[in-house]
Amino acid sequence: DVDCVFEALMNTDIDIDSLEAHSHLDEVWIKEVIKKTRMKLKWSKLKQDKVRENKDAVRRPQADPALLIPRSPVVTIMGHVDHGKTTLLDKLRKTQVAAMEAGGITQHIGAFLVSLPSGERITFLDTPGHAAFSAMRARGAQVTDIVILVVAADDGVMKQTVESIQHARDAQVPIVLAINKCDKAEADPEKVKKELLAYDVVCEDYGGDVQAVHISAVTGDNLMALAEATIALAEMLELKADPTGPVEGTVIESFTDKGRGPVTTAIIQRGTLRKGSILVAGKSWAKVRLMFDENGKPIQEAYPSMPVGIVGWRDLPSAGDEILEVESEPRARAVVDWRKYEQEQEKNKEDLKIIEEKRKEHQEAHQKAREKYGTLHWKERSFLKYQEKKEQKLLKPKEKEERDSPVLPIIIKGDVDGSVEAIVNIMNTYDASHECELQLVHFGVGDVSENDVNLAETFHGVIYGFNVNAGNVIQQSAAKKGVKIRLHKIIYRLIEDVQEELSFRLPCTV
Ligand code: GDP
Repeated sequence: DVDCVFEALMNTDIDIDSLEAHSHLDEVWIKEVIKKTRMKLKWSKLKQDKVRENKDAVRRPQADPALLIPRSPVVTIMGHVDHGKTTLLDKLRKTQVAAMEAGGITQHIGAFLVSLPSGERITFLDTPGHAAFSAMRARGAQVTDIVILVVAADDGVMKQTVESIQHARDAQVPIVLAINKCDKAEADPEKVKKELLAYDVVCEDYGGDVQAVHISAVTGDNLMALAEATIALAEMLELKADPTGPVEGTVIESFTDKGRGPVTTAIIQRGTLRKGSILVAGKSWAKVRLMFDENGKPIQEAYPSMPVGIVGWRDLPSAGDEILEVESEPRARAVVDWRKYEQEQEKNKEDLKIIEEKRKEHQEAHQKAREKYGTLHWKERSFLKYQEKKEQKLLKPKEKEERDSPVLPIIIKGDVDGSVEAIVNIMNTYDASHECELQLVHFGVGDVSENDVNLAETFHGVIYGFNVNAGNVIQQSAAKKGVKIRLHKIIYRLIEDVQEELSFRLPCTV
């Protein structure tokens, strides 16, 4: 059977050239197997190389200053809990809706625009609190230009006020101070300003450059003054962006919509986003199918600083992920493949760490066992331990049920004594779920042999090999007898494989 031999070949490290040299090539089926194997090897290597050849998508170099045009500021509201951040955001959003059109339905998309009568615009990120801000920063995203620090005039500087100041400072983002709840009788704005001096936030009254606005988020008092102060600061910052070329942006929020699939809100930072653009973000990519604003209204274009809802993602990117436009769908796929490949490499490194930890654990367990079982040979020890475990189980009252439970008989083959010992020890210490029992039928050093296959057939067991081979003939014989041979090069993976098989053998509980 050509396919069977081919599968067997793919599972071993056999050298195709030597196989070819030693075969009677007049046998047509061997020729076919060799051809097929060669093709598959070449193909998988090509694919690996291709992924490795890929480059990640990256931001473009800074734009030519001649291309830059002014953009509106992106603002995050921060401050201590209960000082009025949510109320302020709600009020700002409502003012906007009222100003635009009666009956407009606002959607929470993570950000919204406020237009001033002067025509200036401000983008507010509406996930208040510094948790969101620092989560984004942790991913390297810098979207905020200005922080509005809300401090309740009746409460003064509190723990999270100080943390907010620290976050703004770390991100090198300037602050506008909103002293809130000034409608309250006990409000004392001057006290707030004085307290802030201790944290190097010096208001204009005290000779510093921080603008302070006395507001009430509840009555809406002075909100326009706060917006104007923000615009004044933005003008000093000379915020500019390049609206041409491929889009760059940041994911603010992402969620799955029942009808539309994965949706993100993004702040565009460069270029102009249009329908049909191909984007990558994190390990996902999109062909932009639909864009909408915070009122749920479809829009055709999104410019720098604009918050925009984007529909068309294959998977869900995360908040803080960088959005980059690429030239084509194949390029988007290649970038995503590359990122996944890189992540896999990272995961491999982590796996190695875990293996090392496990190895240490086993060394310790081994040491303890040595103390307990003295100078017995490890094979005897392992069997003793195995026996002990079995007896303990049989002594339990639920004896009958347990013996009726499914069993996974296993045979372990390893390259050296040490590795077999390590695996057998793990199996011994492995607390199998009560539903399925692990039965160690045989273990030893060396390649998988005919004898192993016969044993496995008799016991309906599985052969697990660590750093060993199973020759062609053995593979064929195993396939014929319906015996599974699982070869691994990483102990951790082998154990995982056993666990999988265990759960696979559980009776169907539906
Ligand atoms: P957050 O935790 O910072 O988002 O604070 P909230 O916006 O939830 O406000 C906390 C409480 O303070 C709520 O009961 C608000 O109604 C109240 N509050 C917020 N702003 C003002 C204000 O300007 N004046 C008064 N009197 N109460 C306010």
